[in-house]
Amino acid sequence: MIVLDNVCKTYSTGVSALNGVNLRIRKGEFVFIVGSSGSGKTTLFKLLLKELEPTSGKIFINSKNISRLRRRKVPKMRRGIGVVFQDFRLLKDRNVFANIALAQRVVGKSAKTIRETVPQMLALVGLSDKAEAFPNELSGGEQQRVALARALVNNPPILLADEPTGNLDPTNAWEIMTLLDDINKRGTTVVVVTHNKEIVDRMQKRVITIDKGVIVSDEKGGVTNDW
Ligand code: ADP
Ligand code: MG
Repeated sequence: MIVLDNVCKTYSTGVSALNGVNLRIRKGEFVFIVGSSGSGKTTLFKLLLKELEPTSGKIFINSKNISRLRRRKVPKMRRGIGVVFQDFRLLKDRNVFANIALAQRVVGKSAKTIRETVPQMLALVGLSDKAEAFPNELSGGEQQRVALARALVNNPPILLADEPTGNLDPTNAWEIMTLLDDINKRGTTVVVVTHNKEIVDRMQKRVITIDKGVIVSDEKGGVTNDW
C-alpha cells in the first residue's frame, strides 16, 4: 500500500532530512514511527502527502508512483489519506458539526450525505452530544477526537497521525490511541508518529525507528521485520 524505495530528501538549506529510506507498509497495518526531534518523521509524512517531492528515490501508494502523478490527480490522491496533527487544527469559529462537514463539502458531498455522515463520525469518536460545541468549549482530547472524525469522514484508506497525543495528558493520550486502534481494526491503514514510549510499549505494534533520516530498526514484539 505504501512503499518507499531509497528515498532521500535534502531541503534547499542543505539539511538532509531523509537518507535512503526503504519502507513497506501493507494494507491494514498499524505502524508506529518513533525517533528524536529532527529525525525526519514529519518530512516523511509530507512526502507521502506530496507536499514535498523527494530529492531522489520513489514513493508508491497503492502501486502508483506518486512522483509521476499528474497535477490534476493530486487532490484525489490526497483525499485517500486522512491526517491529524499534534495541534488539532480545527476552525475555531465553527462548531464541531461544521468542522467535520467542511471536509465533506470541499469534496462536493451533498447536504443529505453530510447530514447522515457527520453524526456517524461523531458516534465513532464518542462525541455524539458535542455537535453544536465550539472547539474552545472542548478538552484537548475531545478536540483531537473531532480532528480524527474530520480526517476520517471521507473514508480514506490511510490515516497519518503526526504526534496526535503530544498535547494530551496520559488518560486522553491513551484514549486517542485506543481509538486509532479501533479505526485500524475497521480496516484503515494507520501510521502514527509518537514520542509516547509507554503507549508504544503497551500497544505491541510494529515500530519503525528513524534516526537522522535513516531507519535504524523495524520491529514487532522484539522481532525484526524483514519485508
Ligand atoms: P521530525 O518530524 O522527526 O522532528 P522533521 O522531518 O520535521 O523532523 O525535520 C527533519 C530535519 O529537516 C530537521 O533537521 C529539520 O530542521 C529539517 N527541516 C524540516 N523542515 C524543513 C524546511 N522546511 N526547510 C529546511 N529544513 C527543514
Ligand atoms: Mg515532526
